[in-house]
Amino acid sequence: MNRKLPALAAVALVLAFFVALVENYFSHPSAVTTFAEEQKNIYLTFDDGPSDRVTPVILDILKQEKVPATFFVVGTQAEKRRDLLKRIFDEGHSLGVHSYSHIYNDIYASPSALLNDIEKCNEVICSVTGSYTHLYRFPGGSFSVKPEFIETVKKNGYTVVDWNASFMDSEIKDVTAGKLYTAALNTVSNPKRIVMLAHDATDKTETANALKEVIRHFKKKGYVFKKL
Ligand SMILES: [Zn+2]
Repeated sequence: MNRKLPALAAVALVLAFFVALVENYFSHPSAVTTFAEEQKNIYLTFDDGPSDRVTPVILDILKQEKVPATFFVVGTQAEKRRDLLKRIFDEGHSLGVHSYSHIYNDIYASPSALLNDIEKCNEVICSVTGSYTHLYRFPGGSFSVKPEFIETVKKNGYTVVDWNASFMDSEIKDVTAGKLYTAALNTVSNPKRIVMLAHDATDKTETANALKEVIRHFKKKGYVFKKL
């Protein structure tokens, strides 16, 4: 009898283990479904391009780091740099409309003026890529525009994209890559879904200089890079 005791104890242990496993599953069903919820996403977005000096540097870094991004372009810039617009598209990034003229007094004169400006920019995009985009970013963001402008844009099938983190590369004085890196990290307001604003223009070389370190930071933190 005594010899059988260790065997019985082992069977009891195994049974207890399976009971605990099943109990745990039913009392914490979410434990097996949280992976998708826990994924942290970051969307890099670049406004105002394409630009001769900065777009190629940004694209090279994105390629090296193997991350996608979204470019909200300005029609007047894109018309002069169709090759760069094509390169953005060919390298797998998303394109969105930012504005044709980017002149606030003109585009915000009325909802129909805004729509004309958007469609003119989208024509440039389509003439290079063969397709229209539904992505739109208000110059200055949607935060400060009148509701009728937002309604008009949405009614015409556009998805309005704002941001919740920023390189602050339009605001910071005596700009350095280090300051932009710090701003990009410190302005994150929704750590689960970051939409990061940066600018792509001739005078934004420090933005391009900060980009690699920003990407590496968020990679280290476990973020998945996505395009819109
Ligand atoms: Zn802009």
